[in-house]
Amino acid sequence: MTALRPPRLPAFAPGTVWLVGAGPGDPGLLSLLALHALQTADDVVYDALVDRRILALARRGARRHYAGKRGGKPSPRQPDISAKLVELARQRRRVLRLKGGDPFVFGRGGEEALALEAARIRYRVVPGITAGIGGLAYAGIPVTHRDANSAVTFVTGHASGGDLPDGLDWHAIARGAPILVVYMALKHLSAIADRLIAGGRPLDEPVAIIAAATTPRQRVIETTLAEAAHAAARARLKPPAVLAIGRTLRLKPGR
Ligand code: SAH
Repeated sequence: MTALRPPRLPAFAPGTVWLVGAGPGDPGLLSLLALHALQTADDVVYDALVDRRILALARRGARRHYAGKRGGKPSPRQPDISAKLVELARQRRRVLRLKGGDPFVFGRGGEEALALEAARIRYRVVPGITAGIGGLAYAGIPVTHRDANSAVTFVTGHASGGDLPDGLDWHAIARGAPILVVYMALKHLSAIADRLIAGGRPLDEPVAIIAAATTPRQRVIETTLAEAAHAAARARLKPPAVLAIGRTLRLKPGR
């Protein structure tokens, strides 16, 4: 058997920041670029959703900076995290900003990229596997299926202030695509289901809730739109969880 020989990977230059997606949890879903960054970085600034097994791949001697929530206290403010990235880069460190999933999918990666640009710090973005695709796949759910949907909507169930994003047109979302994938859905699950039903989605539409997807703690609950909030409460599901809504779920292989 030939050994896996990775292609030549770009140098991680001192004074630059790599904004990297760590995927939903399973370390096997890391990209080669993400692994390379972990093995090279001087500083790793990571979020709560980054799996511990992934963090353990960081170079020995790398400094770790936690940028997530701690013990119920609010997360550090976004401008403070961006300022930290700028400060470390200016010290000529190789800075790995590691985020769960994909850095640009509901991950504030865009805000950090803008802050780095404004500070004239060079950076690279390394996409990751987002929970709304990889998490569904690990539950056996194809996010698109030729016979069922040619569109999919990704939506967040949480505004930046923590409320249900009411600026969203839930009626339009309900009509928009045969499959909806909702991130950060647990907290406002019953309100989200009510709005989608009011927007015309059937009460008995299949729903899958996938918690801690791709980790050893993964749980998948299958229910209906009308029942989803009760089912999640009964199962005592905890975040992180993604919700998939749509008739497509009936096309799950193995059914
Ligand atoms: N950038 C991330 C999303 C960050 S928002 C990505 O691309 O996946 C945080 C939300 O992502 C969580 O509330 C949850 O809805 C989802 N999420 C992240 N990791 C997850 C996992 N392992 N299992 C289920 N949902 C996950």
